[in-house]
Amino acid sequence: MSQNEILFKRALQSIPGGVNSPVRAFRSVGGTPRFIKRAKDAYLWDADGTQYIDYLGSWGPAIVGHAHPEVVAAVQRAAESGLSFGAPTEAESQLAEAIIARIPSIEKVRLVSSGTEATMSAIRLARGATGRNKIIKFEGCYHGHADSLLVKAGSGLLTFGNPTSSGVPAEFVAHTIVLDYNDLDAVKAAFAEYGQEIACIIVEPIAGNMNLIKPAEGFLAGLRSLCSEHGALLIFDEVMTGFRVGPQGVQGLSGVTPDLTTLAKVIGGGMPVGAFGGRADIMDQIAPLGPVYQAGTLSGNPVSVAAGLTTLEILSRPGFYEHLQTQSAKLVAGLQDKAKAAGVPFCADSVGGMFGLYFRDTVPTSFAQASEVNHEAFKTFFHGMLDNGVHLAPSSYEAGFVSAAHSDEIIEKTLDA
Ligand code: PLP
Repeated sequence: MSQNEILFKRALQSIPGGVNSPVRAFRSVGGTPRFIKRAKDAYLWDADGTQYIDYLGSWGPAIVGHAHPEVVAAVQRAAESGLSFGAPTEAESQLAEAIIARIPSIEKVRLVSSGTEATMSAIRLARGATGRNKIIKFEGCYHGHADSLLVKAGSGLLTFGNPTSSGVPAEFVAHTIVLDYNDLDAVKAAFAEYGQEIACIIVEPIAGNMNLIKPAEGFLAGLRSLCSEHGALLIFDEVMTGFRVGPQGVQGLSGVTPDLTTLAKVIGGGMPVGAFGGRADIMDQIAPLGPVYQAGTLSGNPVSVAAGLTTLEILSRPGFYEHLQTQSAKLVAGLQDKAKAAGVPFCADSVGGMFGLYFRDTVPTSFAQASEVNHEAFKTFFHGMLDNGVHLAPSSYEAGFVSAAHSDEIIEKTLDA
């Protein structure tokens, strides 16, 4: 029995699904999940010692490559000074200041411990600050476990936010209006119907959880002006895109300014850090200045924050984003040729360090289109590459990520796999 099989057997005794969950499984079709034991630069090694080139980057945080020596050293230094204090830390202020210095729409920011906590806190704050309850979200956009606050009434989907499984009270669920991504007319209609009841719109400004869908021309600007007109808040969930598609996330690329932004992944450099921030007058609604209570035992702990701060410093070095952009484009072009040679229906797109691979003939613009993939082609192509030592992405609905460690040599090896 292989080490992966032994570990899977053990995990089945203690972990529901034995880690083989739809989002975390790392396996070929019908195969045993791989248990990862080590990661360095652009590589992962599983329990049997098999090496993989990694394009998931721990679901995004590993943007400077796995186990970057400067990040490891910063974590070690911080750990030697104490793991967590349950009190304000200097490192917390430094990371907050680093985020504010880089993203102009963020005037004040609170650190939390995950992307989910960031989106939940932002939604809660938007409700508290506006005194309204309804939320607009878009089908296919993922906001972490916070989706449990955001499902449509009666949704039978097996989602992270299934109302029956999450125990969310019905009156809460009924407050969410779920619309199609890129359908501005539907947003206008929702404001026409519910106007003064809508607290906020939450959106992935480039959707990385439907593979990779870019906003249509004018979509984000349209959301901005509808929110301003109706006194609702615009929340950009940049947990995936923040510091990845460019130094100021999608808001920097689009020039559209949200009221609140959520961040995680990159800002923790592999450690649990999330953040939500934005307009000072809204952020000041948090206690003790305002009525919205918000605090977490491990928020801003110095060890996690040290990894994030060092990662942001590395990202600020000249040429960092150009490298991500170039390597994503090379990878995507190479995969396109490979798929063509294999006769697989395929197209691809990229932005900064994020790429989408679509097993269909055109780049999708909506959730419905993103769901129309040729699953056979996906399985053959992706799982074939996994068996040849390349972990491109776990599913047909997730973006993949390129890091600083994806050199030309790594990309060539990938395309040869
Ligand atoms: N928001 C977006 C856009 C995400 O991609 C994710 C996670 O993938 C989350 C929120 C949730 O973040 P976390 O998994 O850190 O709770």
